Amino acid sequence: MTRQRPLLLLFIVFLGAGALALGRSPSVGAGQGAPAATRPPGTNYKGPAFTFNKIQEGVYHAVGTGSLVVMSNATIVEGDRDVLVVDSHVTPGGAWALREELNAITPKPIRWVVNSHYHFDHSHGNQVYGPEVEIIGHEFARQQILAGKSLDSPALEFFVGGVPAQIQGLEKRLAAATDDKERATIQAQLDVQRNHLEGTKAVRPTPPTMTLTHTMTLHRGAREIRLLFLGRGHTAGDVIVYLPKERIIATGDLLVEATSYMGDAFFTEWIQTIEALKQVDFDTVLPGHGRAFTGKTKLDHWQAYLRDFWAQAQKFHMAGVPWEEAAKQVDLRGNAVNYPGIRTAGITPNHGMRRAYELLDGKVK
Ligand SMILES: [Zn+2]
Repeated sequence: MTRQRPLLLLFIVFLGAGALALGRSPSVGAGQGAPAATRPPGTNYKGPAFTFNKIQEGVYHAVGTGSLVVMSNATIVEGDRDVLVVDSHVTPGGAWALREELNAITPKPIRWVVNSHYHFDHSHGNQVYGPEVEIIGHEFARQQILAGKSLDSPALEFFVGGVPAQIQGLEKRLAAATDDKERATIQAQLDVQRNHLEGTKAVRPTPPTMTLTHTMTLHRGAREIRLLFLGRGHTAGDVIVYLPKERIIATGDLLVEATSYMGDAFFTEWIQTIEALKQVDFDTVLPGHGRAFTGKTKLDHWQAYLRDFWAQAQKFHMAGVPWEEAAKQVDLRGNAVNYPGIRTAGITPNHGMRRAYELLDGKVK
């Protein structure tokens, strides 16, 4: 999860991209490489669902086009015989679409799926993968998914719970629209959201089949793929996927292009975990949300943001300010030079502040 003002922003992003998808012919069909999987609900969309940005030979950053709500990026790593995919998106439909569209990139089958963490928008496509695919995640991610925590999250409530209301709003706008072009745009947006709603209803949270607590390395021909747990941060079990030869790292939501969701955060440990990440020798970062980037300056930016947020949260807490009020008053505009999305005081969603208070009250260990 990520985003500064997520609901509105995501909505606009999805709607805009949905409109762009109008007029494109469906490109989704039976693949050449992998056996065609049963098409799950929530795959009634005008493709393609993904853009595969080639980072190096056999390494891609798969980013949603908006024709299907996928919510998170995937990283694709080809080995000599098979393919590893980082993250499975928000619905089985998203994971299915990735698998289908990947057939145009490589004939090799997906054999490994890594969940960077347990959040719904990174793991709720797991069920699409059959017994021939190992789903790898941190032991904490497995426990959370088994306990139903990927469904029982304030983030899910915030990001997915609002979809029926969005659909109702669009239906009203469609009924009121008089211009044909406007009607077509709204209809395209409605199609995307209705399909997304179908997709979310089909989710059966499926835990990793293989877990780690510190590190694991896959050797696939010349490709070395290291899975690293560097400490708690975005959640208690964030796994990073590191390609040492290629100097590429996939960070999930531990480090994203903009600001990351903090509703499950361990703020002070997150700062330390980013410090540990600085010791890893990489050039290119493929984040779970936003665009790929290079270099390490964003690590400093995110540490500064976390320090600022945590210091303010402590002050509000000490002063007895309720967390809901603190979420309105917290002022992170000092970070706007690095995060231009920050334009006003306050933080949305407010789950970060609620989480900070839980930690300060000793309710989370
Ligand atoms: Zn997340």
